[in-house]
Amino acid sequence: MTQNNPAHSHWLIVSDLDGTLLDHDDYSHAPVDRLLHQLDRHGVPVILNSSKTCTEMIGLRRELTNHHPFIVENGSAIFIPSGYFPHKPEAARRSGEFWVIEPGAPRARLLDFLAEDAREHGAPYLNFSAASVDEIVAATGLERDQAAAAQRRDYSEPLLWRGSETEKRAFCERATCAGFHTLEGGRFLHLLGRTDKGAATLQLLRCYRDSRPGDYRLVAAGDSPNDLDMLAVADIAIIVRAPDRDAPVLQDDKARRVIHSEQYGPAGWRECMEPLFSPLFSETKTQ
Ligand SMILES: [Mg+2]
Repeated sequence: MTQNNPAHSHWLIVSDLDGTLLDHDDYSHAPVDRLLHQLDRHGVPVILNSSKTCTEMIGLRRELTNHHPFIVENGSAIFIPSGYFPHKPEAARRSGEFWVIEPGAPRARLLDFLAEDAREHGAPYLNFSAASVDEIVAATGLERDQAAAAQRRDYSEPLLWRGSETEKRAFCERATCAGFHTLEGGRFLHLLGRTDKGAATLQLLRCYRDSRPGDYRLVAAGDSPNDLDMLAVADIAIIVRAPDRDAPVLQDDKARRVIHSEQYGPAGWRECMEPLFSPLFSETKTQ
């Protein structure tokens, strides 16, 4: 795909936030600010796709000056600014200033499952719904208002696991049997409906194709096992290096190129994205 002229394709970037576009420890995005601005000027949408909630994402999106659709809570819901496409996608409902598509499960169902499961098997984890803001701050390093925003979840429950690996595996099996999905994030085990970041990415890509037919090139960037579904549906998968663990494993194949960053977090994002898009930036400049 890369031998094609980048200026003749519709490019879409879909990106994880924590540890990918944002620094794992201090949530800084300074290394990518200039590049994000260039991508925006050249009409390349950057779709934020994270385990974060809608409230958290709206704040970050504003901070990043991003005006594109975004995917929350590990593929549970897709928020599209109203009027972004010429027509509202069929599967979407209106909610305030957004069109929302919801492939995930409502949080009440997840909490019912957790309560029932805990009665029989105990709860060797900190879950956000039961935790105080102070406990979340101590466990995550988030600011207090960020921690409070992270508590307001609509489609998923992050669990900070405190039990053994064996207990965790058994819990995940019970969740799967009950019709839910579990995902390992950078910090948390997430319980959610049967969706993932990749399924939601494909659903959003269909919305782009329906509104503007053409040759789409999807670049995905992530740093964790919960990004693999998203990375697997991309034409180019960028695996951003994390300082505290091995990179998730994704094979190169005929349809997909896999690039690993040398640097961590947003510096790794820039390191991999810049060479892909600099031909587009220079070509557009000379037109
Ligand atoms: Mg991450």
